Amino acid sequence: MNKVTISKLNEIVGKDQVLTGIEDRITYAYDGTQLLSQAPEAIVIPQNTQAISEILKLANQEKFSIVPRGSGTGLSGGSIPTSDSIVILMNHWDKILEIDQENLTAWVEPGVITGKLHETVEQLGLFYPPDPGSMSICTIGGNVAENAGGLRGLKYGVTKDYVMGLEVVLPGGEIAHFGGKNVKDVAGYNLKEVFVGSEGTLGIFSKILLKLVPKPRATKTMLALFDSIEQAARTVSDIIAARIIPATLEFLDRITIKSVEDFAKIGLPLTSEALLLIEVDGHPAQVEEEAQKLIEICRKNKASNVEIAKDELEAIRLKTARRSAFSALARVKPTTILEDATVPRSQVAPLVIKIQEIARKYDVMIGNFGHAGDGNLHPTGLTDERNQDEINRVEKAFEEIFRVTMDMGGTITGEHGVGLAKKSFLKEWMDPGALEMMKTFKAMFDPNNILNPGKIFDLSPKCEGKLIAEKN
Ligand SMILES: Cc1cc2nc3c(=O)[nH]c(=O)nc-3n(C[C@H](O)[C@H](O)[C@H](O)COP(=O)(O)OP(=O)(O)OC[C@H]3O[C@@H](n4cnc5c(N)ncnc54)[C@H](O)[C@@H]3O)c2cc1C
Repeated sequence: MNKVTISKLNEIVGKDQVLTGIEDRITYAYDGTQLLSQAPEAIVIPQNTQAISEILKLANQEKFSIVPRGSGTGLSGGSIPTSDSIVILMNHWDKILEIDQENLTAWVEPGVITGKLHETVEQLGLFYPPDPGSMSICTIGGNVAENAGGLRGLKYGVTKDYVMGLEVVLPGGEIAHFGGKNVKDVAGYNLKEVFVGSEGTLGIFSKILLKLVPKPRATKTMLALFDSIEQAARTVSDIIAARIIPATLEFLDRITIKSVEDFAKIGLPLTSEALLLIEVDGHPAQVEEEAQKLIEICRKNKASNVEIAKDELEAIRLKTARRSAFSALARVKPTTILEDATVPRSQVAPLVIKIQEIARKYDVMIGNFGHAGDGNLHPTGLTDERNQDEINRVEKAFEEIFRVTMDMGGTITGEHGVGLAKKSFLKEWMDPGALEMMKTFKAMFDPNNILNPGKIFDLSPKCEGKLIAEKN
């Protein structure tokens, strides 16, 4: 990037807010996705919406790319820079602007940490359900851009179900508003939905209006352990068939149980093949009744142990089993490749078993955990990027896992997005007409392809860099 462009950026945001040092560029070359990296030309920290707008206008004039970034916890490479890009940092936009207790809404800046929003609204007896595993560090802006899910998706849905309004700076620099506090609003096309899950390619969110719900009055948390994957899977099906929709219905396999126990020491037996974390919430009487039924269902399916939390502290301990799964697995080997395969709920057990077979076939270590109630699994390759032979085998194993997932009627990503990591699979998975329509959409919003180019699909050869996903 030439000095003139950098000095124009300095004029827009102030010299201190444009970082070009090699240490900064390396720091922002990564997100949570392993094996992908590309240093940006600069990192820019805008202080207001007008500044974002001016940066986008400059990018159109001078034809450089912009990559919006929240906390960089994304797992599909969404905030990894392109070779000629500047990163726009949004994580310091961290104010909760308004909590409207009459309309049950919250206006927030995009850099608000998801867990911080939870704490704030819960003190007022309100509830913001989407709770990605990364909620203590990820931002609401990143959640909206990825349409993030979480542990409470089964009962409460995902981020898109809570986005009521957006202020967006469009790729041309225009500041646009979509949606609002009206619970019902069918005036024109539902454009707000186009931006949710747009992975930073259609606009930069500068304000987000979220729906809140009343905080459930009671919660019951339990852990059930099983000697076989099939028993755990049957338990999941039986729970749904009994017309119980838990807030949380999460699964851990044996490798993950062992890693969690080594890490968190919460007393999990190392011989179990599967663990289910189940949480029901709602009216106290209903929660009590459902909890009793859940225990019966677990016992009927031969759970080797069912532990019910007696109080909040115990509930936190049991939830640690699931919440620490990724961190625990990440300790096993230097490189942790966390994937995101989703199948119809009935296919969870066959997919888990197939993943174990594939891991044996390629002689690689794959731990598995995920949102069993949503059919959303996170097979996690535990490897070492310095061992190229093993990395090749892990990549082949994941390719096969995604083929099997598609054959089972599943999708290539349930919540982490396509980004760079999945774009080769998108071509295979998506109807060609629908893919073309998405590209037409992108070109219409962003004719110069300046906003997060090369993510989801390619429009131009701009996104080069040393991106391993591209090479394959
Ligand atoms: C341990 C761990 C657990 C996780 N668990 C879950 C989970 O349970 N469910 C789940 O869905 N995901 C999960 N994730 C993935 C990740 O946390 C989510 O995708 C999250 O939404 C990313 O938020 P972020 O602030 O880190 O965004 P980033 O990674 O910085 O960015 C993600 C995308 O959003 C875009 N973006 C960021 N801010 C804006 C903005 N203001 N305007 C427009 N675009 C923007 C970026 O360009 C990029 O494309 C997990 C990740 C980790 C590391």
